[in-house]
Amino acid sequence: MRAVLLHDFGELRLGDVPEPECGPHDAVIDVRCVQLSVTECMLIAGDDVALHDQLADRLRRGPVQFGGHEFAGVVSAVGAAVTGVRVGQRVTAVETLPCGHCVSCARGRGDGCLTPGVIGFTRPGALAERVCVPATAVVPLPSEVGFSEAAAVQPLAGAVHAHAALAVRPGESILVIGGGVMGLLAVAVARHGNAGGVLVSTRSERKRELARRFGADDAVGAGEELTRAVAEFTGGAGFDVVVETAGGSRSVGLAGTETVDAAVQAARRGGRVAIVSVLPTRAELPAGTMREKAITLVHPRSGAGYYAQHTSVFEHSLGLIARGQVDVGALITHRLSGLEAVQEALEITCDKERFGAINPAQVQVGS
Ligand SMILES: [Zn+2]
Repeated sequence: MRAVLLHDFGELRLGDVPEPECGPHDAVIDVRCVQLSVTECMLIAGDDVALHDQLADRLRRGPVQFGGHEFAGVVSAVGAAVTGVRVGQRVTAVETLPCGHCVSCARGRGDGCLTPGVIGFTRPGALAERVCVPATAVVPLPSEVGFSEAAAVQPLAGAVHAHAALAVRPGESILVIGGGVMGLLAVAVARHGNAGGVLVSTRSERKRELARRFGADDAVGAGEELTRAVAEFTGGAGFDVVVETAGGSRSVGLAGTETVDAAVQAARRGGRVAIVSVLPTRAELPAGTMREKAITLVHPRSGAGYYAQHTSVFEHSLGLIARGQVDVGALITHRLSGLEAVQEALEITCDKERFGAINPAQVQVGS
C-alpha cells in the first residue's frame, strides 16, 4: 500500500510499504481523513521536543513511517479474537496504547502505563492507505460526526483533559492565551464546563472573532493590551485559571515561552495554569514568580483516559461534536486530497499564520 515515509528530518516522501498485518487483537482501518498534529510537525522539522531522540535514532537506521495519529476511517479487517469492532464500522482511534502488562496496566490503570505505544510514533500511523491498531484503541463514530470532524477530535480531547487537570469550579474566571485551535477548543470546553468569565488573548482579529463565537466573553490582543484587560476583567486580582496554548517552537510559528510568562503574570495568587503548548525539553519557566504567587502548574494528559465510569474522554469529545456543542468543523480551514498532498499539508500546518489556517490542514484519503 501507499504510505508517507520520513527519510530524514524535513523530508517526507510517498512510497510503498507492506500491507499492515492484522494480529488476532487488531483492527485494520481504511483511512478516510488524517491531519498532522503540530507536535508531529515539530518532530518532522527536527525540533528537540519529547520523542525527538528516539526518532533521530530510528532515522539513522532508515526511513520511518512516522506521524498520523489524528485520523478517522472505516474498519476493513478485524483479528480473530476481536469482539465489539466490526468490518464497515466508521471509527477513529485513541493514539496512546497501554502496554497491557506493566505494573500500572496490571492494576487496571492503563492511563498510567509505564511504556505506552503511540500510533504514528512507536508504530505506523495513518499517513497511509490503511492503519492497523489494537482493537481496544478503536472508538466508533456517532452517526452525526463526519470523518473530517472525527480526525480533529484528538485536540478536543486534549482541551477536555486540560480542563479536567485544572479542576475548574463553577464560576471561576478563565483566561485562554492563544486563539489557535487549542485555544478555541479550550474556550468551548470552558463554556460547557461551568466556567465564569472567559477572556481570550490572541494577536489575530479573526481569531478574536472566532473566540467570541466559541463562547468567550471578550477577546483582546497580547502584551500591554492583555495586562490592561486582566486588570479590568478581574478587578486587579488575576484569573483563577489560565490555559496557555500559544507557546512552542518558533519554527512552526509559535511564541517560544513568552506566553508562559504572560500566563503566570495573569494568574491570581494561588491560581492554576495549564501549559497545553508543547515546549522544548528544557524550556525556561518563571519558576520564581510561580513560587512567589503559589501558582499550581498542570499539563493535560493526551487523548486516552477516563474520568467517568463508562465514557472515555474520546467518546465524550465525540459527543460534544455530535450534539453540536463544539463546532470543530468551523476550525477546519484547509482540506486537501490524496496522500501526495501530505507535504503541502505539512507546510500549511507548520506555518498556519501565513496560510490563514486554524486547524491543521486535513488530507482526505481513499473514497
Ligand atoms: Zn502498561
